[in-house]
Amino acid sequence: MSWDFETDPEYQAKLDWADEFVREEVEPLDHLFPHQQFVPLEGSRRAIIDPLKDEVRGQDLWATHLGPELGGQGFGQLKLALLNEILGRSPWAPVVFGTQAPDTGNAEILAHYGTQEQKDRYLQPLLDGECFSTFSMTEPHGGADPTMFKCRAVKDGDEWAINGYKYFSSNAPTASFLIVMVVTNTDVSPYKGMSMFLVPTDTPGVVIERTSGLANEPLGEGSHALIHYQDVRVPESAMLGGEGQAFAVAQTRLGGGRIHHAMRTIGLAQKALDMMCERALSRETQGGPLADKQFVQGYVADSWAQLEQFRLLVLRTAWRIDKFNDYQKVRRDIAAVKVVMPTVLHDIAWRAMQVHGALGTTNEMPFFGMILAAGVMGLADGPTEVHKVTLARQVLREHRPAEGMWPTQWIPGKIEDAKAKYAELLELEEGNL
Ligand SMILES: Cc1cc2nc3c(=O)[nH]c(=O)nc-3n(C[C@H](O)[C@H](O)[C@H](O)COP(=O)(O)OP(=O)(O)OC[C@H]3O[C@@H](n4cnc5c(N)ncnc54)[C@H](O)[C@@H]3O)c2cc1C
Repeated sequence: MSWDFETDPEYQAKLDWADEFVREEVEPLDHLFPHQQFVPLEGSRRAIIDPLKDEVRGQDLWATHLGPELGGQGFGQLKLALLNEILGRSPWAPVVFGTQAPDTGNAEILAHYGTQEQKDRYLQPLLDGECFSTFSMTEPHGGADPTMFKCRAVKDGDEWAINGYKYFSSNAPTASFLIVMVVTNTDVSPYKGMSMFLVPTDTPGVVIERTSGLANEPLGEGSHALIHYQDVRVPESAMLGGEGQAFAVAQTRLGGGRIHHAMRTIGLAQKALDMMCERALSRETQGGPLADKQFVQGYVADSWAQLEQFRLLVLRTAWRIDKFNDYQKVRRDIAAVKVVMPTVLHDIAWRAMQVHGALGTTNEMPFFGMILAAGVMGLADGPTEVHKVTLARQVLREHRPAEGMWPTQWIPGKIEDAKAKYAELLELEEGNL
């Protein structure tokens, strides 16, 4: 039996290297080039970032979410989790390590469902880190319930014509191609009537009507696009997976995407906890450091325990993904991770902000960005409520209703059962007395 919480020394050495590399070489990029991770590299950004990517490749840590046949290391999800914890500290780090969302998930479905032609055209540049991609699923009138989608593709000769709107298609303004989920058959259930298409962003009819930024970005900027697909014509060969297979394709991508976000969230929450502790030890009030005040100690203790519980859940889920190699078998685990993630990050970042006093609330500290990230984690890849329902259903599936009038653990009934079970011996004992 193997049951171990230790990392093998060889991989630990790689993690130690990554930890120092991210702190020393990558985190400065977050301050030099904020919000530019998904802008194609040129000029000084290319001059700085290409050599960093080469160093990552030299350490065999490039695109470790992928198997060796696709240029990755095939380390599996557990090892990826340990690495992603480190990368989660910095928005630039996933790009430098070739593991940024949503490209990781998009690469996964291309690898899984793509034809050779699709892989050559779209997957290879993605793996080389030379282009970005967009997953275009949510619609303006509904995101959490894909059965409401209206964006439609109709067959016209040997082409499909796509018409409709998609909302919050992240990175579309800089992506080379879009993976779009559309209705292709209205006569069957939505679960069988939607298909996925690969659409180059410069295809005539792909109109980005506006982009939304997140809370702290200036109005009119941002990377989340409202796209109007206006009679967008693509060949039959643009379909990814079979006709009517969009739900299966999306699930393949979303399972991995959700757990990868969680891995990185551990890193961000750990960064907030580190900052909280540093401040508690540095700031003095009423004759001693904040660290000596019991309320602050409570913040530190609660945060550490909350983070460690979450981390163990994420690592165990990653381990189960490696074990089963089937996302259907880990739906419960991934839903639980997705449900817990926003609260863990929110609570720890909020406490860290509080311990920093007024400074914590300023744009000179990263706490509001972290709290915003917690809010995003409660929506991106599906709202918390929907995942709670999935989790509850999965858990309930493992249980049965009680037979008869009383719960099976009703104590009077249990006593009767116990007496009946050991009646002979109990009688013997009474006889001896
Ligand atoms: C930063 C960010 C990036 C994103 N990137 C992408 C992307 O690249 N591509 C893409 O396609 N989408 C993307 N999304 C969209 C995301 O997938 C949707 O926001 C999400 O699926 C919810 O859809 P909605 O926003 O339309 O909310 P709605 O579906 O309107 O839901 C709103 C709220 O209603 C409640 N609710 C909804 N359904 C239920 C239910 N069944 N039971 C109980 N309560 C419910 C929840 O509180 C939910 O938050 C992104 C979102 C964010 C925030």
